[in-house]
Amino acid sequence: MAKFEFSCKGKKLTFPVGTGRTIASELLRLQVPIDTVIVRLNGAVLNELNTILDTSYDVTVVEGFDIESILNNQISSLQISDVSGKYLKRHLKINENGTLCLKLNLMSDDTIKNYVETTFFDTVKNEKLFEGTKKIVFGLSGGVDSTTLAYLLKQIPGLEIHAVTYDDFKTENDPMQEFVKEIAKNNCIIHSIISEQEVRNLFNLNTSIKKILPELMETKDYDKAMYIDHHLTRRALEHYAEQNGIQTIVLGLHATDIIAGLINNYTYGYPLQSMPKRSVGKFTYSYPLCYLTKKELKLYLELIGSPHFKSNKVNPWELNPLDRNFYYYLADNLQTVWPDIQYWLIKATQQTLHAEYAFCENCKGSMQVTSNQDCPKLCDVCKIFKEHGYLKE
Ligand SMILES: [Zn+2]
Repeated sequence: MAKFEFSCKGKKLTFPVGTGRTIASELLRLQVPIDTVIVRLNGAVLNELNTILDTSYDVTVVEGFDIESILNNQISSLQISDVSGKYLKRHLKINENGTLCLKLNLMSDDTIKNYVETTFFDTVKNEKLFEGTKKIVFGLSGGVDSTTLAYLLKQIPGLEIHAVTYDDFKTENDPMQEFVKEIAKNNCIIHSIISEQEVRNLFNLNTSIKKILPELMETKDYDKAMYIDHHLTRRALEHYAEQNGIQTIVLGLHATDIIAGLINNYTYGYPLQSMPKRSVGKFTYSYPLCYLTKKELKLYLELIGSPHFKSNKVNPWELNPLDRNFYYYLADNLQTVWPDIQYWLIKATQQTLHAEYAFCENCKGSMQVTSNQDCPKLCDVCKIFKEHGYLKE
């Protein structure tokens, strides 16, 4: 039988692997990062594209982390007898003392529904999304995110909800048009369609946007068309908000949207903005679906029996640029390894991240202080030394 014999910090671990597969595919199946290990057969180092033979391979863990304990908290090593339920909700809890705990919840219809609603209402409440707000506007495109948003927002008491659809319908009798009207009607929400002409005027354009976007796809700026499309939609919403005395704009960005956006920020050095509520010019943008995944939203919509629009025609600019697709892929991978990482990442955006330095009075080392923390006299290490009585009086 083919197997990987791991040596890790003096311990031996054995994993059966499939003959005929590559070393890479088996490492990935086990959720072992490729560069964490060196694989050898009879002492000779093999690269990951070698095909596995019916024999035993020595795998040396080169990184210093405790891979065994980490894998115990990864989905690849889970085996449970009762797998009833539609959705396996995972949450990796990182305790204050640094231990990991993978919490599992096999969800059936009722629990999925309850989970999505509770998460939404908790986000609205805990993040004070609509505090002091009477009127909001949100973008209703008819897709999974905005349809869920319509359904959940209308359950918030005392909030006047305006749905706005920017008319970027693909054809004159695009069924989307009737569909969004239907959603707004079913949810008793005030609904407006912003015509292409209005947006064209807003940008002083001399021709139709329906003509410009496909034309741009044929130029060197083809990779900008999707961002332009999003910006036009956002400006349409802002324009409507301005005309109707609304300050709060709500968007249906879900966890993966947020994480992919943060990866983009980090890799390009764009400034981080606080989430899930941020001031942009004179508006406040709110993202009440920020902790939920697309999968959860999609399952939820199916459960409440709400139709949502599945477009069979995709605009060419929605598939480009590929790097944006890649950030989404990375974000979903990150959530596979660290389910619910969005709670940590979003929290981090709320801290002021400008680095300021001070010096520890004891060891004289420099220490980073965040602006929302009073300047400490001792660094974290010296604080512990002091607390345990190890510092000379
Ligand atoms: Zn110190």
